[in-house]
Amino acid sequence: MKQGLLVFVVSLMVFLVACQTTTTLDTSLEPKYQTSNNVYSLDVVLDVEMSELSVTGEIYYKNDEYDLNELYLTLYPNSQNYTERENNIVIDYIKIDQLVYEYTITGSDHSQIYIDLDDTLLSGKRISIEFSYYFTYWQNDGRISKHEDEFLTMFFYPFVAIYDDEGWNIDAFTVHGESYYNTIGDYYVSIDTPLDYQVAASGELVDTSSTDTRNTYSYEILNARDFSFSTSENYFVYSEVENERTYMIYSLVELSDLNVFRVFNIITNTFEAYESTIGSYPYDHYTLELGEYFGMESTGIAYCNYDIDEATIVHEIIHQWFYSMVGNDQSDDSFIDEAITTYITSLYYYEQSGTNGYYGYLAFRNSLDERFEDRLIACQGESLLQKVDDFGDQYAYLIYYHGPTMFRYYVDEFLEGDIEEFYRILSVYFNQYKYQVVTLDDLLDVIESESGVQITKEWFMMQITEFQDLDNRP
Ligand SMILES: [Zn+2]
Repeated sequence: MKQGLLVFVVSLMVFLVACQTTTTLDTSLEPKYQTSNNVYSLDVVLDVEMSELSVTGEIYYKNDEYDLNELYLTLYPNSQNYTERENNIVIDYIKIDQLVYEYTITGSDHSQIYIDLDDTLLSGKRISIEFSYYFTYWQNDGRISKHEDEFLTMFFYPFVAIYDDEGWNIDAFTVHGESYYNTIGDYYVSIDTPLDYQVAASGELVDTSSTDTRNTYSYEILNARDFSFSTSENYFVYSEVENERTYMIYSLVELSDLNVFRVFNIITNTFEAYESTIGSYPYDHYTLELGEYFGMESTGIAYCNYDIDEATIVHEIIHQWFYSMVGNDQSDDSFIDEAITTYITSLYYYEQSGTNGYYGYLAFRNSLDERFEDRLIACQGESLLQKVDDFGDQYAYLIYYHGPTMFRYYVDEFLEGDIEEFYRILSVYFNQYKYQVVTLDDLLDVIESESGVQITKEWFMMQITEFQDLDNRP
């Protein structure tokens, strides 16, 4: 009996200690706050005449690992400023736990808001960060841009920069690749537009309301890497339901019946291939916007050009798996998401045409092809682990051509050309790190342990840190 009581007391103590170190959900809160994710509530109003977006909202932020005495909020619209103002963004207020806070705009492109906290924010604790501001859309081909009456709106909201063992990740916005580096969040967004504007967005449309002149669209998306939308009064909208998932196309040009058929085929074939081989996709909706932007991924949506490039659409959809669900530092480690996404675009063609499809696609991506002779010479010794902006003109060649070429070479030389075995390994990697942020070590460790090829990591690191023609082995 006594021994039983002792076991009970010890068990209770272990349980209580465990409770202290794991996330407990406060069920007294609204359901949307009963989550271990960061929660973003955003209400935006589009002023078409002024080309401005007003944003009012809150981040219900969870501090993960380190105690913090300061915060950086990353807010990219300041990165470009075509206005007469000192900063593109005009901030009305920033409040933390309902107190108005002073802040400093900082960073080389003014995309960081520095806040000195009154009290230490302990790891595991949450705070409410409220804000209200407006900004003017950029005038170039950027991620926050106006093209005639199409408003592309990505990275328009603030997020707390990630603090890790290297300190704050507060890199400037970069146009070569995406510098957005954030953890998974739940997004509740209302978008207020003129009446005749339609919205293509990341989330699921859960409510619409109207006045005589305006529409308000309410969206929700949970476990998302980001939220974005575009809006226009000139969209042609198409939808298709397959396997209980709704696929939408918002196109700035009217599509022929053949092109509607073609694009839905590309989308559904891509989902079928990657869900069955890599892992499941969590939402019952996906949207493709066909507008002025050439190709850009975001959770639940992609922005591609209305000229319709099959491989680009496939590539942007694959980012649902490698970018959205498995995240990484895009500024420091663009190799991880972009090279894998480009390599594994081969799966789409493999499913259609077997090894001919696989090698055909990768032949187009072959960095060692003689058409790249000049780049091959120019890139000798270059690292693929540079910050995105430091690559200069060789970025696309090194990441989108040499990256996938490296994986193809590895499969041929080290896995005896067993393509499906490598897809299986990438599926293990995906399922192990779903909804997390990975490092290059994480990726290479999975490939090495799953393949059983002991020199995997050493070989990849040799190739990645110093560009060479792939014939060298450790
Ligand atoms: Zn990409």
